[in-house]
Amino acid sequence: MSPAASADLPSRSGHATDAALRAYRTVLHASDERTMLREICDVLVDAGVCKGAWIDLVSDGPTPQRAADWVIAKALPLMAPDGKTLGTLTLADSDPSAFDPAEMAILVQLAEDVASGIDALHQKAVRQSHEQRLLLVDRALRTLSAGNRTLVRCTEEAQLLAQMCRVIVEIGGYRVAWVGYAQHDTNRSIFPMAQAGVVEGSIERMNFTWADTPAGQTPPGMAIRNGKPYVRLDIATDPMLAPFREKSLEMGFAAVSAFPLIVDDEVIGNLDIVARERDAFGDQELAVLTELAEDLSFGISSLRVRARHRNAEKMLERMAFVDQLTGLPNRIRLRERLERAIEHARREHRPLALLTLNVDRFRDINEVLGYRSGDRLLAQLAGRLTGLPVAPALIARIGVDVFAVLLPGADAEQAEVTARAFARALDDPFEVEGARVEVQASIGIALFPGHGVDADALIMRSDAAAFQAKRDHLGIAIFRLDSERENRERLTLMADLRRGIAENQLRLYCQPKANMMSGRVCGVEALVRWAHPTHGLILPDRFIPFAERTGLINALTHWVINASLAQCYSWRERGIDMPLAVNLSARNLLEPHLVERLAGLLDTWGATPSWLQFELTESALMEDPAGALDVLRRMQQMGFRLYVDDFGTGYSSLSYLQKLPIDAVKIDKSFVLGMQADPDAWTIVKSTIDMVHNIGLEVVAEGTETQLIWDSLATLHTDVAQGSYVADPMPADEFAEWNAQRHGSALGLH
Ligand code: C2E
Ligand code: CA
Ligand code: CA
Repeated sequence: MSPAASADLPSRSGHATDAALRAYRTVLHASDERTMLREICDVLVDAGVCKGAWIDLVSDGPTPQRAADWVIAKALPLMAPDGKTLGTLTLADSDPSAFDPAEMAILVQLAEDVASGIDALHQKAVRQSHEQRLLLVDRALRTLSAGNRTLVRCTEEAQLLAQMCRVIVEIGGYRVAWVGYAQHDTNRSIFPMAQAGVVEGSIERMNFTWADTPAGQTPPGMAIRNGKPYVRLDIATDPMLAPFREKSLEMGFAAVSAFPLIVDDEVIGNLDIVARERDAFGDQELAVLTELAEDLSFGISSLRVRARHRNAEKMLERMAFVDQLTGLPNRIRLRERLERAIEHARREHRPLALLTLNVDRFRDINEVLGYRSGDRLLAQLAGRLTGLPVAPALIARIGVDVFAVLLPGADAEQAEVTARAFARALDDPFEVEGARVEVQASIGIALFPGHGVDADALIMRSDAAAFQAKRDHLGIAIFRLDSERENRERLTLMADLRRGIAENQLRLYCQPKANMMSGRVCGVEALVRWAHPTHGLILPDRFIPFAERTGLINALTHWVINASLAQCYSWRERGIDMPLAVNLSARNLLEPHLVERLAGLLDTWGATPSWLQFELTESALMEDPAGALDVLRRMQQMGFRLYVDDFGTGYSSLSYLQKLPIDAVKIDKSFVLGMQADPDAWTIVKSTIDMVHNIGLEVVAEGTETQLIWDSLATLHTDVAQGSYVADPMPADEFAEWNAQRHGSALGLH
């Protein structure tokens, strides 16, 4: 340890007084301790008080023995005004007669002056560093609160990071702030996401890494690896920062800190803050900045959660409003847009047109080509419609083979021009799996306000017009009133239906299903009939579609379920345990509280879910996939067995079915009936059975009219058959008798 200050100059005769005066002046003007001490030693030697002088401070550690080289040495204690020993002033000389008592008295006074000088400088330093520290903590706090305002405002992750860096530099006065994300590449690189402040060249080129290698011992590397804040207080002396020293000092960097960013318990990166003050990042400042980094982590995390929610919502929305096969908006979306367009048209006093495009003979095409090719054809057709240079507001797919086009602002003439363009777009044959298919369409037009002033009226009337176009082979038809007359008849019939349901005119019929292995009846399907007071018994095909469109279907279904439970109850009283399968429409699934209502009905009849089963068509499942799925899941959880009805006529794929909560698939009767004559239909039935079995579901074949069909179905391992060969639909209250008679001949089916 070297003396704090010393001088070895030849002594002249003692001029203690002179030295004391000069020393006092030095103390008065001193601003730096080391300089002051050196100057005092110089003054003592220079004034000829002694030949050697040095000052040792307690704060510098133990004092080495240097006095031995001298003939005479006097050590004067340096005592602070509060009595604390600060060190010693040693005077040495080779002349044994040096330092007489009078001189010593003056020198003791001098030592006192020096001591109070040292003490004053110490206290000033303490004050300054305290103030400095307060300033640093204060700016950290300012940064934190500005940072929190940023958190609240930002909606995108990249924006948040950039803003946070800006706040740290602009509000906090730090030299540089940057955020790097840990990459999981081979180099474990740290990818700079945002930065603010002065950096020469890009941070990217500094090639930071968080690998546990020599290159990874930097603050960002350490913070990411350890998941803890990491500080290097002095770039100028820190050996770890040697590679960055020269550049850093040039740019005015003095201290650097790195804070981990932790999202979902994983360190995703770090926030780096560089300060220009050597004593930055004291404990308090560090605590505040750590909090800032934690807040930033929280901000990133909540933005990510929000982004995930947004994506999920978009997906659900897409599923609910978009037809999966063609990617076009579906019926629900069309309705919604149509309603808005009508409102707009009304305000602007403008017309609008709704076109309904029906693909002619699509069912035939589907049967000949198979439903897969049918799907492909529909997708191609949708592509042609949307590819036209006319700019309609919306093309939607609203049924298996029905498209709708909404034309805001269009009058009759413009609507017809557009309709012709759509018809022409189908002129060229389609190519589906090597086959050329000619497709024609019938297009109906309904206009606002002439044909209707609400969405329902327009949809119904453009649909009626399309029907007219088809029936009269017109290609294109604008809604006319004679179709309205038909409609009015239907409307009165429907008014009748409302009353019919209330007045118990519905009749429950049922049709048995037989297990193909045993030949035994394993269940019955509930089929409704309407005993109209003047028209007689009406088949469901004439009133169900209308009931579905008007919402009457909910009351109707409720009636059927109730009647079915009543029927089951009476069978059970007679010892017959036979599940009844009830048909549900798409709209039934949209009815709120359907599940609760079912539970209530079960309670009423003291029934269990095994009494009832439910059949749903593919299109019912596709209408509102998200909502329907939820209802079906709850029904299946309750214990109801669920069937997909009319399979093959809709447009769902088996892979889609696989995701649905269903137990069995009913192959549509059109395929089964066609099986004998049409090899394609036979192939469809066979491959459907195989695939349905492969996904672990049961197969029911509808339309089993003859023994020939029964036998073919048996060789294909169909599980259950339904159709005239087993029995035609019968009044439900006649089933028990029929079943008893048939019982003996159950095996005769084979
Ligand atoms: P579905 O669900 O496909 O019912 C089977 C239909 O096929 C019944 O017609 C039945 O009479 C007929 N069928 C049965 N076996 C054969 C056969 O071997 N050959 C032929 N060619 N046809 C056969 P139905 O009773 O006229 O019912 C027609 C449709 O009405 C039903 O088709 C169903 O979609 C609907 N429906 C009937 N009752 C209800 C109901 O209570 N609620 C709902 N939502 N729809 C119902
Ligand atoms: Ca059915
Ligand atoms: Ca069916």
